[in-house]
Amino acid sequence: MSITSILQDVFGYQAFRGPQHEIIEHVTRGGDALVLMPTGGGKSLCYQIPAIARQQAGQGITVVISPLIALMHDQVGALHEAGVKAEFLNSTLTFEQASQVERRLMQGDITLLYAAPERVTTPRFLAQLDALQERGHLSLFAIDEAHCVSQWGHDFRPEYRALTVLHERYASVPRIALTATADALTRADIIERLQLQEARLFISSFDRPNIRYTIVEKREASQQLLRFIRDEHMGDAGVVYCQSRKKVEDTAELLCDNGIAALPYHAGLDAKVRQANQDRFLRSEGIVMVATIAFGMGIDKPDVRFVAHLDMPKNIEGYYQETGRAGRDGEAADAWMCYGLQDVVNQRRMIDESPAEEEFKQGLRGKLDALLGLAEATDCRRVRLLAYFGETYAKHADAPGRPKLGTAPSGGSAAHEVASVGAGCGNCDNCLQAPEVWDATDAARKLLSTIYRVQQMSGFGFGAGHIIDILRGKATEKVVQRGHEGLSTFGIGLDLSETQWRGVLRQLLAIGAVAVDAQAFNTLALTETSRAVLKGEVPIRLRQALAKPERKSRRSAS
Ligand code: ADP
Ligand code: ZN
Repeated sequence: MSITSILQDVFGYQAFRGPQHEIIEHVTRGGDALVLMPTGGGKSLCYQIPAIARQQAGQGITVVISPLIALMHDQVGALHEAGVKAEFLNSTLTFEQASQVERRLMQGDITLLYAAPERVTTPRFLAQLDALQERGHLSLFAIDEAHCVSQWGHDFRPEYRALTVLHERYASVPRIALTATADALTRADIIERLQLQEARLFISSFDRPNIRYTIVEKREASQQLLRFIRDEHMGDAGVVYCQSRKKVEDTAELLCDNGIAALPYHAGLDAKVRQANQDRFLRSEGIVMVATIAFGMGIDKPDVRFVAHLDMPKNIEGYYQETGRAGRDGEAADAWMCYGLQDVVNQRRMIDESPAEEEFKQGLRGKLDALLGLAEATDCRRVRLLAYFGETYAKHADAPGRPKLGTAPSGGSAAHEVASVGAGCGNCDNCLQAPEVWDATDAARKLLSTIYRVQQMSGFGFGAGHIIDILRGKATEKVVQRGHEGLSTFGIGLDLSETQWRGVLRQLLAIGAVAVDAQAFNTLALTETSRAVLKGEVPIRLRQALAKPERKSRRSAS
């Protein structure tokens, strides 16, 4: 059967999507491939069709390495429905069942065998692969979720490292590795670790035009979330990500108390409860799953209408992966994140306190900074997001002006005008309503010199609250006790609200012009970059606080 007839007759699809055709031809012919395609792009067919075609040509079985049992079950189930001989080998099988699969494997009675990486690299399994190869019955290796091999990926799995054995031991067997997320660093790591230097690289566009990106300043996060769901997503299925288990529980409860059907999901819950919640989310309509990042990988629910982040992820890959779970059916969906000063401080601290090598931490900091840049951006989020993955955003040819959406843009014609100016996507918060910005360069200098002066005066640093108190001329007990009301910067920042000061500080943290010392009560300190800001060499532009648009800052004219 040709690959096109396999697509149509076995899978029931009319045409290949995007680069599928090229990839499938290449792999069927025996070429190695590294496939970068966004979630929902159709990666599975890229190895399933070559597996079938090669099996029919007498080349034997395809081994699919997959990190998740749930994923294997889904795929094998779907393949059975299509009449394809697929099986899996994992810890859920009894000894009897596993033996039977192994027997059929040796008889060449299986087209695709799914297995976990730790299983594939056991001596027992390798001996079976040896036997298959001797008979010329080992056709293809497909390595799914290939970013798991990289510590730069968001989901490092040490077992993936051992997969180099596939190339070393079966050099003549073609390999296809697939992943939905890989920035330049991760990509290079995958190629090196899996020895895919010779593989052809297939990169699809990572744009998800139906997802609308919105990042708001964190005030009262749970109230903001509640408003977001009520205003835009009542009755919709969605996922809310929180950092801690406690916050997951609290948020799920809050949503339920407010008439929103929500369920918690985190690693601390009993496995049965977790499974039941997941099943309900998948099967029922309009459930909101409140979860830690333990939830989501391999979950294919097409009609998730929103993904909300109450806490900031670690990096852009994580953000992209998590938000990518929205709108897999192609209909309009929202990616909403609420982000504040504390997020920056927390993420920085987690990196600082981790036991990793300094060089590795430096890498993590760089990744975090890229995400902070995205959060602080006043221009198109999509352009920034795609640029991070090395892609230049181009408006889709079939969607002049705006991407096709199920819902009208809020803001009407004004939003339209903003969107049509410049190279923005027209479907993110900044494109829909160009944020008003103010020049905070001067404020930033005041803040930095206050940090400097208290350090000089007291011999050690202070935290954000204290520094802002000084700027705003609040003679608190602590300020008086330390004699800080005598500083020349005492009260010079009365023109800004505390929130605005936190915004300035957040931005300074984001660009690395202020450091937080986690070992010393989160005290603030100057950095190398501070000097440039103090000299006025680095302009600081801040978005106008959206919560109070009428009371224009007295400084906005500057
Ligand atoms: P990924 O693994 O990249 O996240 P999947 O392989 O799960 O994506 O595919 C996503 C969805 O798209 C699945 O429901 C799949 O059946 C469907 N799909 C894939 N390729 C095609 C195609 N050529 N035509 C129609 N539907 C497709
Ligand atoms: Zn945009």
